[in-house]
Amino acid sequence: MFTYLNPTIRQRLIDEHKLVRINAEGTETTLDQVPQEGELAINVLGPIPLPIDLDGVKITTQWYASVRSTELNQVEELARDLSRQGSQTSFAELASSMAVNSVLVIGDLTNATNPLVRVHSSCLTGDVFGSQRCECGPQFVSALDRINQDEQGGLVIYMSGHEGRGIGLWAKAATYLLQDSGENTYEANRSLGLPDDSRDFTDAGALLHYFIGKRPFRLLTNNPKKVDDLRAFGHTQVTAVKHVIGVNPWNRRYLSAKKDWGHELSEQDISKT
Ligand SMILES: [Zn+2]
Repeated sequence: MFTYLNPTIRQRLIDEHKLVRINAEGTETTLDQVPQEGELAINVLGPIPLPIDLDGVKITTQWYASVRSTELNQVEELARDLSRQGSQTSFAELASSMAVNSVLVIGDLTNATNPLVRVHSSCLTGDVFGSQRCECGPQFVSALDRINQDEQGGLVIYMSGHEGRGIGLWAKAATYLLQDSGENTYEANRSLGLPDDSRDFTDAGALLHYFIGKRPFRLLTNNPKKVDDLRAFGHTQVTAVKHVIGVNPWNRRYLSAKKDWGHELSEQDISKT
């Protein structure tokens, strides 16, 4: 029989403590019950050793995949239905719609008193294609490097549903065309009737509680809103650490719009090459 995760294997992973469920406070809860309506339940799978060699940064990380159990349940239910109907062809399509976030743990966090953290919003064009229209790619690689070199270690949380500050890849593509007609990155979102920034950091908040607990941490970001969003989830001891890298003639205007919007960027930062 086809299921998304074979029940025997699922149980083995639970027994080995490699599949856990956490709530909004980062506390482990049972995987046996269906979560209550409105209750945050995130399934976390890992650690999975993940050696990385990216742009000359060679590090070993421990990867954790995380997904809201409600989303996973829907996919699992559909998998059961498809199995009954003897059709598995559209399953890949279903699974691809599920937002699976990732945590990359770098170093041993056991004794870290103030780890270094990056909560990185997915950016296919910047992170994978190496697009210079933004600075996401260099920010991602540099975060891995900085955390690896930090004596405290830390983690990167990669938010998979954050493309284009939460508007999705399709709309982001449209905003690029609007930007090329003269609008800035925020104006282009508004032209499409979409918010300036619709990213949801709920899952990042819960994952930080799970991996770091009540400890203070340093966050690699120039965006005070991200710090405020995490504070709203109970992370009161977070300190922003500036993370300016990857400035180039292609993204200067974009960074300038971010500065005007409230990002901690100076004229000097933006004129860097
Ligand atoms: Zn980007």
